Amino acid sequence: MKIATALQAGKQACSFEFFPPKTDAGVEKLLDTARTLLPLKPLFVSVTYGAAGSSRERTIEVAKRIKRELGLEVLVHVTCIGSSLATLRTLFDELAAAGIENILALRGDLPTDGSSAGTFEEFKYANELVAFLAAEYDFCIGAACYPEGHNESSDIVADVGYLQAKVAAGANFLITQLFFENERYRDFVKRARAVGIEVPIIPGIMPITDYRQVQRFTDLCGATLPEKLRNELVYRADDQSSVVDLGVAYATLQCADLLVHGAPAVHFYTLNRSTATRAIVSALLAANMLT
Ligand SMILES: Cc1cc2nc3c(=O)[nH]c(=O)nc-3n(C[C@H](O)[C@H](O)[C@H](O)COP(=O)(O)OP(=O)(O)OC[C@H]3O[C@@H](n4cnc5c(N)ncnc54)[C@H](O)[C@@H]3O)c2cc1C
Repeated sequence: MKIATALQAGKQACSFEFFPPKTDAGVEKLLDTARTLLPLKPLFVSVTYGAAGSSRERTIEVAKRIKRELGLEVLVHVTCIGSSLATLRTLFDELAAAGIENILALRGDLPTDGSSAGTFEEFKYANELVAFLAAEYDFCIGAACYPEGHNESSDIVADVGYLQAKVAAGANFLITQLFFENERYRDFVKRARAVGIEVPIIPGIMPITDYRQVQRFTDLCGATLPEKLRNELVYRADDQSSVVDLGVAYATLQCADLLVHGAPAVHFYTLNRSTATRAIVSALLAANMLT
């Protein structure tokens, strides 16, 4: 089913993001993890795409198997940076033939060495990939958005303007970068609506399970770790289970507040683990906040 169609039904649900493991054994383990999340009835599961297409084959394999063996709706991430049109066409043809209906159309990160030589084979920004997909395929198209601004952009007004172009090109829904302060999401949704973006904006939530890891992620993506949360994490930094307890409780409160205030769904950055996500979603289901 197309994700946008499911979202239109207005039932708030959850979704889970996985990255493709590098080994066959890792893929089997991931499928087992995904299986444990089946009772939570996710709206979809998304499978990421390694930088510059490095995981292309594994992404396709994992996406196909999750759809075929677990019967879950799949959203396949695809980045266009460094890919020729022929490569992208082959990929999308294969995904369409496998019955995949949903693509998260992304540009991908610029090379970390600052070079751009050979980077832009066909498309420079994600809106061009979105337009290509909308013109040539029948996928439901998702795109990324950034409540605190994209890390290359110093101007959040321009950032939302470019997002509007991405939606105008054919994006049917958006998923946000992770954030820890719901006000950031609400402000962002207001700014997006003000420039005419009407598609569903799904908040992306990462349950914290490791303090150092969350520090790394927030440094990379620019999400703000609120001071009080940071202090609690520092206090527990060397007691892993206590960090997980806090992370689960914090993310549960975050999701409950987002859902009560009308978020269309919640998307979990699971990092291929299920325990924290299962605890959070189970509580939200028990409280009748998710379908
Ligand atoms: C939900 C989500 C999932 C992701 N999954 C993956 C993944 O699987 N694999 C992966 O490698 N990366 C992934 N990323 C990271 C993403 O690839 C990077 O953040 C990347 O740097 C930007 O991708 P984008 O599609 O948002 O790009 P774009 O929408 O193209 O934006 C990139 C930058 O360019 C600016 N911009 C856009 N259009 C224009 C224009 N016309 N003129 C000037 N500036 C413009 C934007 O403001 C922004 O700063 C994901 C991010 C999110 C939020």
